[in-house]
Amino acid sequence: MKKLFFNKDYIEKVCEKYPTPFHIYDEKGIREGIRRLQKAFAWNEGFKEYFAVKACPNPFLIKMMLEEGCGVDCSSYTELMLAESLGCRGDDIMFSSNVTPAEDFQYARKLDAIVNLDDFSHIDFLAKNGGIPETIFIRYNPGGDFKIDNAIMGRPADAKYGFTHEQAIEGLKKLMSMGAKTFGIHAFLASNMTNNDYYPKLAKVLFETAVELNKQTGADIKFINLSGGIGIPYKPEDNNPDLEYIGAQVKKAYDEVIVPSALGSVTLKTELGRYITGPHGVLVTRVLHEKITYKDYIGVDACAANLMRPAIYGAYHHIIVVGKENEPCDHVYDVTGGLCENNDKFAIDRNLPEIKVGDILAIMDSGAHGYAMGYNYNGKLRSSELLKCEDGTTKLIRRAETPKDYFATFDFSDIIKV
Ligand SMILES: *Cc1c(COP(=O)(O)O)cnc(C)c1O
Repeated sequence: MKKLFFNKDYIEKVCEKYPTPFHIYDEKGIREGIRRLQKAFAWNEGFKEYFAVKACPNPFLIKMMLEEGCGVDCSSYTELMLAESLGCRGDDIMFSSNVTPAEDFQYARKLDAIVNLDDFSHIDFLAKNGGIPETIFIRYNPGGDFKIDNAIMGRPADAKYGFTHEQAIEGLKKLMSMGAKTFGIHAFLASNMTNNDYYPKLAKVLFETAVELNKQTGADIKFINLSGGIGIPYKPEDNNPDLEYIGAQVKKAYDEVIVPSALGSVTLKTELGRYITGPHGVLVTRVLHEKITYKDYIGVDACAANLMRPAIYGAYHHIIVVGKENEPCDHVYDVTGGLCENNDKFAIDRNLPEIKVGDILAIMDSGAHGYAMGYNYNGKLRSSELLKCEDGTTKLIRRAETPKDYFATFDFSDIIKV
């Protein structure tokens, strides 16, 4: 059963002060999740998680992560600005970008961030735009299918990311000839993996690749970046990844492959996003209307502009009718937002308790790729973001947009006064 990190009294009070819709995050949950990850990988000296900023780019949350000893994983100019504003420098920042503009590379080099190159052609491009650093990572794409126990988990051959095997060999040689001295190997082969064997399998592929690349090129590979991809149980029946098992299985692969190799030891890095914030955010929305036609529709004040995963991926997000947690789910509803798009549905044919206009719905697991993917279609405004602090208080960590924000990028002050 999925549970909220707040009760009805708490959220009613919050709603009096901050109008719905909003995303609210749980400080305690985020901090505990990070500590659990770090504990599972404590066997690897120098292990560090770089939070994938794109998952939830809120400086208040990222500050908490930095306090917990994380770094940040950035992939754009503004994400680098966010990192710099929080005091990140050097190996606090992993820059894992693709289709990278020149000014982004220059900025990453100015901050002395760890550059994780996506493509062979970027070697010359980086040399011209910021220069080749002494320590550099490359992103590896093994091609083919990525399988765990014969089940296909992803198709790297269709993914736009990374160097092929041949390119990795040539790339390391070229980087060494240009002055690079130590290397990291990165790969991201499947997303939202709730299967406990994803990271161990990925780690094994990367460890074996690192050993082989070292043999072929002599490159001093000191780091392996397992990237993101650990999933969360969006559905109540989904597996909740077992971090302790995952950490222990990655260690097993390490002991088998790295320890006896010429490399001897490597430092592990991760770039988790969804695991860190996903389960610890909730989109809170109020029921505006009930419409009964061929189906029973519950219309809420949030829409796909606040959380687009259901609309674009058909993703499941669990919904709790706040205060009715123990009532039978004996009604069937479509829960919809107000976009003029028929895919603007948070749930289709969902069994829920009887819902009344004015009820508060909690759309669960909105903490990653939720607010962050927001947009302004139909003139909808981005919501606020709140933090339920460990001491029980509530903090506004981003205000809601106003029409002025929506109109800020063009100047028609001679026509309309906003
Ligand atoms: C998206 C992304 C991540 C984070 O992925 P999650 O699925 O949120 O863990 C990490 N690294 C890179 C390069 C990414 O693009």
